[in-house]
Amino acid sequence: MAEHKCNKCDKNAKMLLTYGPHRFCEQHFLEFFEKRVRKTLRKYGLVKRGEKLAVGVSGGKDSVTVLYMLNKILGKGNEITAVLIDEGIPGYRDKALKVAEKNCSEIGVQYETFSFKEMYGTTNSEIMKKIAGNKELGSSCAFCGVLRRNALNAAALKLKADKLVTGHNLDDEVQSILMNFFENDWKRMVRLGAVAGGSKSKEFVPRIKPLYETPEQEIVAFVNFTGLKVYSEECCPFSWQAKRNEFRTMLDKMETKFPGTKYSILQSFKTIKPKLSVSDFAGELKKCGKCGNPTSGEICRVCIQLEKIK
Ligand code: SF4
Repeated sequence: MAEHKCNKCDKNAKMLLTYGPHRFCEQHFLEFFEKRVRKTLRKYGLVKRGEKLAVGVSGGKDSVTVLYMLNKILGKGNEITAVLIDEGIPGYRDKALKVAEKNCSEIGVQYETFSFKEMYGTTNSEIMKKIAGNKELGSSCAFCGVLRRNALNAAALKLKADKLVTGHNLDDEVQSILMNFFENDWKRMVRLGAVAGGSKSKEFVPRIKPLYETPEQEIVAFVNFTGLKVYSEECCPFSWQAKRNEFRTMLDKMETKFPGTKYSILQSFKTIKPKLSVSDFAGELKKCGKCGNPTSGEICRVCIQLEKIK
């Protein structure tokens, strides 16, 4: 990279963004990065001045970056609270949450922690033990994903937040688009987007993704350049089960061979999304027969998952 100049100044470029292609020195990369987050917030109308924001923070690079950026861009006009979810994964989440707490203190954002144990009476590790050896019950991530999403929503409701912010980035979104497409799961597909969900129920806090158009590798670079401390020592011990890993590898290969692939997939989805309506695929919301929460089925996914491990 040293032989190339930054597109904006005479300094040597430290970042090559192949899809542009853009070459940036550190300072101009950071400016470019922030500008894109501001643009995403504006383009999709993600946050109004005065709205209360609950930000899901795990301690990883994406959530710490979104917390840092939102506090920088919106901290003066919006109340921000970080929401930390403890799924109960010893040796992993406990360490990551310590990093998350430290970040919240350093960035200057209040936080609250909610645990699976308090909310569901069980932990992810206990669930893992119960489902071990029974493939029909699905993977640990299939439980964790549903319970974590519900926990974040419940926390945002408790905090009376107007929006729930997540650190989902371009790679996460494009992986989800392909996974849903491969599985012919349009019910989930229609819920993707910079504003996720699509349900108008007051029981669901709108989920927004300010890093929706930011590639994962650029978040890694952002964290390195800014010196933000994030948890990156170990992966979740159950992550080997995630089907998502296969899609990540495939998409990364495609992006290397054909720069811009990830943006093209996102763009294709954005083109067809207005033609898809949530009610066509997900049906009208009813009350869950067990817990009373809104659901498109008879029983909500949280109760279905919890029932499996009784
Ligand atoms: Fe949960 Fe799976 Fe993520 Fe681990 S990898 S935190 S089990 S969703």
